Amino acid sequence: MGQRRRAPEANVDKRAHAVIRVSLTALVTIYLLLSLATIFVLWLVGEWGRRRRERRALYYRLRCVICAFEFEDRTAALLPRCPRCGSLNERYRLEQI
Ligand SMILES: [Zn+2]
Repeated sequence: MGQRRRAPEANVDKRAHAVIRVSLTALVTIYLLLSLATIFVLWLVGEWGRRRRERRALYYRLRCVICAFEFEDRTAALLPRCPRCGSLNERYRLEQI
C-alpha cells in the first residue's frame, strides 16, 4: 500500500517539475514581452505628448502668405492680421507643414 501511494506522488512530482520548467520559459517570455510592451507604451505616450506640445506651440505661430513675415498671434481670432502688411492669414496645422 505504501508503494501504491508513492507511485502517484512520483508521477505528480515529475509532472510538477515539467510544469515548472515550461512555466520558467513562459515566465521569461512573458517578462520580456511585458517589458517590451511597457517600453513601447511609454514611448508612445511620450511621443504623443511631444507632438501635442509641438502642435500647441505652432498653433500660435503664423507666417503671412503675402509678405512671408513670421509672427505670433495668441488671440482667438480665426483669421489673424499680419502686423507688417495687414493681410488676413489662415492658421496652418502641423500636418500641412
Ligand atoms: Zn504680411
